[in-house]
Amino acid sequence: MYIQNPEYKKIAFSMIAQIEQFKIVKNEKFNICLQTISNAIINPLKISYIKKEKILKLIEHANITITEPTPEQRNKYYNACTLRKFANHYFLTDGITPEQLTAFNDIVKQATAAANLLLPKTLHILDAEHIPQIYNHKYNNERNKEPFTIGKIEGLYIGEKSDINASCMQGKPAKYFELYTDLNEEESTLKMAILTQGNEIVARALVWIDKAVTDIDRRKKQHPRHFYIDRIYTKTQEHRAETQTQLYNDLIKHFNIETNSNYFLPDGEEPTNKIHLPPCYNRYDIVKKIEAQQNTIKQIVFSNSCPFDVELSSYSYNYYPYADTFQNFDTNNQTISSDQSRGSEMLRLENTNGDAEASSIECEHCGYDIDEDNSIYIEEDEISVCEDCATYCEDRENYILTDNAIYNSHSGQHHHRDDLDI
Ligand SMILES: [Zn+2]
Repeated sequence: MYIQNPEYKKIAFSMIAQIEQFKIVKNEKFNICLQTISNAIINPLKISYIKKEKILKLIEHANITITEPTPEQRNKYYNACTLRKFANHYFLTDGITPEQLTAFNDIVKQATAAANLLLPKTLHILDAEHIPQIYNHKYNNERNKEPFTIGKIEGLYIGEKSDINASCMQGKPAKYFELYTDLNEEESTLKMAILTQGNEIVARALVWIDKAVTDIDRRKKQHPRHFYIDRIYTKTQEHRAETQTQLYNDLIKHFNIETNSNYFLPDGEEPTNKIHLPPCYNRYDIVKKIEAQQNTIKQIVFSNSCPFDVELSSYSYNYYPYADTFQNFDTNNQTISSDQSRGSEMLRLENTNGDAEASSIECEHCGYDIDEDNSIYIEEDEISVCEDCATYCEDRENYILTDNAIYNSHSGQHHHRDDLDI
């Protein structure tokens, strides 16, 4: 259904007024009825207008008087074009100075961008195979400038002045994200959610699902604990929480996630008074808005931590992405998790250069970083320490703290100070 958007009209009027300030002359031949300009029916980015002579002709020959056009009249008698084309008609730009031309172009560009912001934001769910392509795209990267297509969504782009474009992994080689396309699909699923406005990607987030790909049937109610909505990147700081909230809510609808915890209770169990929301990285940014929408006296359970690990198909990759949540790759069992436990089999996905770091531990005596492989356990003190802090004691046939070791140059052995009569 078509509605006239007064904001769009304001943008058009403001564009005209700003151009007039640069003393660019109006084209008298383009004599239109300014009062009834509006967003077009066929394309909300285009402007709909009618010439005054056409209004007169309609009165004269068809006995039709247009004051406030109905959508039908607008559709039938009005023209539609882009704001740029409209500005080119409305003003005489032949022979204007280069300064005037620059100002003219800037004003039209800003008006077009402002009109874009009026468009609704639409959710799309992409399969993991497209994640490298999305991350690889960067506006100011020469090879990546062109809009791209994913399935039926054509002409996708990420704006130059978008915070998504500034994210640390944006524009990185597609091969860095190989891991995201290699989940064990019998255990876990990864999707990417994007919000588009026009064709611009204005928000993106990874959606982790603790279910086999083939088990996700959106006709059935889904359990909130099977989902984790990772960090939601947005185009601008402005209205960030609103955009994040929309993406979060749209996801709940899209995946048919049931938030009433009683739904999943086994028969005969006492009903609870709880709402369970899928956990989300940005919980603290959106919780107030989400709670206000729920408008309930029930207890809302909403966490920012992921309740599950994700299994991969390999124990090693050539490249690794920086991960916001799943920063720990356990190469023994091929899982990534948010678990902070350290060890030689753990890799930390904390680098933006395609590498992963071996996870090291600190010496519990001197505090220096050491690989777990090189740490020595001191039974007496129940701590793991570095090689410098540990000394082998022949008497005890065990390692002791170097601080407690006293060297006997006669025997060439170390003794524990407690064992000596000094
Ligand atoms: Zn040490």
